[in-house]
Amino acid sequence: MLAELPDMGVDQTKAAIDRAYVAQARWAALTARDRSDTLWRWHQLILDHTDDLAAILTAEMGKPLPEAVSEVSHAAAYLQWYAEEANRIYGETISAPSTDRRMLVIKQPIGVVGTITPWNFPASMVARKISPALAAGCAIVLKPAEQTPLVAGAMFALAAEAGFPDGVVNLIYASEGAAVGRELCTNPKVRKISFTGSTEVGRLLMRQCSDQVKKVSLELGGNAPFIVFDDADVDAAVDGAIQAKFRNAGQTCVSANRLYVQSGVHDEFAEKFAARVRSLSVGDGFKPGVAIGPLIDTHALLKIEAHIADAIQKGGAICCGGSRAGPGGTFFEPTVLTGITSEMLLAQEETFGPLAPIIRFEDPDQVVREANDTIYGLAAYFYASNLKRVWHVAEALEYGMIGINTGRMSSEAAPFGGMKQSGIGREGSRHGLEEYLEMKYLCMGGL
Ligand code: NAD
Repeated sequence: MLAELPDMGVDQTKAAIDRAYVAQARWAALTARDRSDTLWRWHQLILDHTDDLAAILTAEMGKPLPEAVSEVSHAAAYLQWYAEEANRIYGETISAPSTDRRMLVIKQPIGVVGTITPWNFPASMVARKISPALAAGCAIVLKPAEQTPLVAGAMFALAAEAGFPDGVVNLIYASEGAAVGRELCTNPKVRKISFTGSTEVGRLLMRQCSDQVKKVSLELGGNAPFIVFDDADVDAAVDGAIQAKFRNAGQTCVSANRLYVQSGVHDEFAEKFAARVRSLSVGDGFKPGVAIGPLIDTHALLKIEAHIADAIQKGGAICCGGSRAGPGGTFFEPTVLTGITSEMLLAQEETFGPLAPIIRFEDPDQVVREANDTIYGLAAYFYASNLKRVWHVAEALEYGMIGINTGRMSSEAAPFGGMKQSGIGREGSRHGLEEYLEMKYLCMGGL
């Protein structure tokens, strides 16, 4: 056991919302510079404590320590970005259609925001969600995932040290999400819900918010295609696929879930990719050189095994990996499968693990149709060199984020989010700030 925490319920959530409601008006009344300065102090404290935060992260969810360090830096980058953006909230003036009127638009904070985060990036999701809200002048109540509450707790302790006024940031620890989630969605003092997690829970939260027509931002599941065309640089594509697939043991919403490789480069890609995958070591995230940590729980392990069994039964073949790893626990070997077809479960569902299915294709137009044939639309990747193809494929893929000749694209400066059932709204960049601002139109007459 790492720590014991209070299990907070509806009463504590209500109390936190009440505190946030009172604090929000005071926070919004400060100058943008004051809010920015507080975010800067928090950013600096997170940077100063990178090693401690990363160690907590690895201890509670298992990702390799270098990945945890990089996640904490990514979290700090969001705080820096929104400390800057806090000073750049602008309105508009509109040319009025008559001379006796003036028309303008101002932006104001939306109010109290209820935020719910997942376990797979427990530090950067907290920062990505709440820093734009705070920059906008909102107060927040956050419920982190029950699997990873400690790093959120440590970050909130640093927020208190940074000097956020009492009640502006509120943390609710809960051993399950439903009751706290319902209170956040149905309490009228909460004006917006911002959620990252599964599509299933996202749909439920939307339903719970519908009575009050409460605003929602949702960052949900994905089923990312990773397409390698014949004109791609195969070595670069192999590098990109390793990054896009195996970071966080494949437990990322932007993980390459389906690797489509065109016939002309299929065998070369499969061979080079499998060789790299065999070299990835699985184990304790604190051990140097470990690339793949444990899965979050047994349920995740069983899902991977079910996906592999289904693929084998329908004619797929294991190229490398395929078994549990280590002395027990939830470790699984990084695995490559070939001979995959679109009717197999692993091509249709988000596996959320270190499983890379390779699907051979011939027709470039057909592959784009297949890549789009999913309820999800979060991230897609492709490797190609022909400029005409690059543009056409980028425009045809129905995804919110497209990595072209790269396997990694997440950045605080860019809008992160998805189309279709992958979500609503964007996080990061200027667009992420807009999610927490209300637009108010002012019309002044009699002039
Ligand atoms: P999850 O939906 O089970 O849990 C996410 C959060 O929701 C947790 O805090 C959990 O306690 C809470 N929750 C669970 N049931 C709830 C309920 N009934 N009411 C309110 N809250 C509830 O998801 P998970 O398994 O923790 O995370 C994995 C999923 O998250 C994957 O589908 C992944 O793709 C997605 N994800 C998306 C993004 C993105 O930015 N789009 C980022 C990371 C993860």
